[in-house]
Amino acid sequence: MLRMETIQYNLPQDRIPRVWYNILPDLPSPMAPTLHPGTCKPIGPDDLAPLFPMSLILQEVSNEREIEIPGEVRQIYAQWRPSPLFRARRLEKALDTPAHIYYKYEGVSPAGSHKLNTAVAQAYYNKMEGTKHLSTETGAGQWGSSLAMACSYFGLDCKVYMVRVSYDQKPYRRALMEAFGASVTASPSMETESGRAILAEHPDSNGSLGMAISEAVEVAAKDPNTKYALGSVLNHVLLHQTVIGQEAIEQMALAGDDPDVIIGCTGGGSNFAGLVMPYIGRKLKGQSHARMVAVEPAACPSLTKGHFAYDFGDTAHLTPLVKMHTLGSTFVPPGIHAGGLRYHGMAPLVSHVLDLGLAEAVTVQQLDAFAAGIQFARSEGIVPAPEANHAVAEAINQALEAKAEGKSRTILFNLSGHGHFDMQSYIDYQAGKLQNYDYPAEEIAMALAGLPSIS
Ligand SMILES: *Cc1c(COP(=O)(O)O)cnc(C)c1O
Repeated sequence: MLRMETIQYNLPQDRIPRVWYNILPDLPSPMAPTLHPGTCKPIGPDDLAPLFPMSLILQEVSNEREIEIPGEVRQIYAQWRPSPLFRARRLEKALDTPAHIYYKYEGVSPAGSHKLNTAVAQAYYNKMEGTKHLSTETGAGQWGSSLAMACSYFGLDCKVYMVRVSYDQKPYRRALMEAFGASVTASPSMETESGRAILAEHPDSNGSLGMAISEAVEVAAKDPNTKYALGSVLNHVLLHQTVIGQEAIEQMALAGDDPDVIIGCTGGGSNFAGLVMPYIGRKLKGQSHARMVAVEPAACPSLTKGHFAYDFGDTAHLTPLVKMHTLGSTFVPPGIHAGGLRYHGMAPLVSHVLDLGLAEAVTVQQLDAFAAGIQFARSEGIVPAPEANHAVAEAINQALEAKAEGKSRTILFNLSGHGHFDMQSYIDYQAGKLQNYDYPAEEIAMALAGLPSIS
């Protein structure tokens, strides 16, 4: 008789976490304060009020360990949460490794990625506080489609500035946003002062997340009925993603395994933080020994090659100054297909945790990421998003290292989303049209030379 091997560790609906986990009170030292761009003094909640509803601002600066998830948000989470945890047994066999490979799959959300976890929460708090319109940026389109969907659930208007290169590469993501009722503009655009200023200098600009953020922030700052929503980087966004790690802890217990290494790809840091922060919390209490590994593209290496310094979150310098790993706010990353990883900075919280030695970072080249994604798809049947391919590549590296050592190793990674809207990048990869990008040393040096000097 065939012995059934367990490959799925699922939790019932009532195990959807009741709180988001805020790691700040558990860290050995606090984060550097966020500074006002004009005065360079720490900002207060009121400074952010034109952009965000007060409940999200209070989460941004909260020192509470646990923040209750509103019932209405939890009810919407129930559409795809708890998300499944899989053991990648066929991939293990294909690699002939003694390692155990697990992945938490966030592609089961209707928008196809983890981004919906925070989109629903952000739309909810905005609705509660009377916001009518939300403006945002999107790189690859995953965040834009998540926010568009959440806005349609709560009856909010949604305006999305989509990075030009993705707007051209990913028409179906745009169609999805429009199906949810959002209005989508390629960025840089002529609709905003910041967009017009960039186009005047670079009429053929590919766009960047930094530019699209400037446009979306400008629109919100100028209209009292419009607030701004960000899909990554900020503390409250990372906080909302901690449902991922809390579920994973329970699911790994069901599997009777304890991770030695935990992996996530990092663009702004939110899916990585969502999986690892609850584990770092345990590690600080001596309940986990796992290494936390952030994986970034070699073409946009903010954690491994950036400075840990105060910088702007956007190109036009409309945002407050945050201390983070940055390549400089004027750096425009090469047009790699993992659009969600093309950001010059990194979440201040992820940067801080790295600085404290509680996490490490590695880089992966574009072609290695796609090769890993193809291998994963052929063993596991899921085509990962190009961003998630970076995490897959490092998980495979870890499994092969364990094989070389002839030792077992338990690997857990975040499969942050599926690649069903990214098939053009797979077509290009299979046709040999994709390339690796060298580390753009010169442009980064120039952008870093322009970092604001904060004494
Ligand atoms: C946006 C996105 C990322 C990168 O953003 P993080 O905030 O670093 O998680 C990674 N994977 C997918 C599928 C995404 O949509």
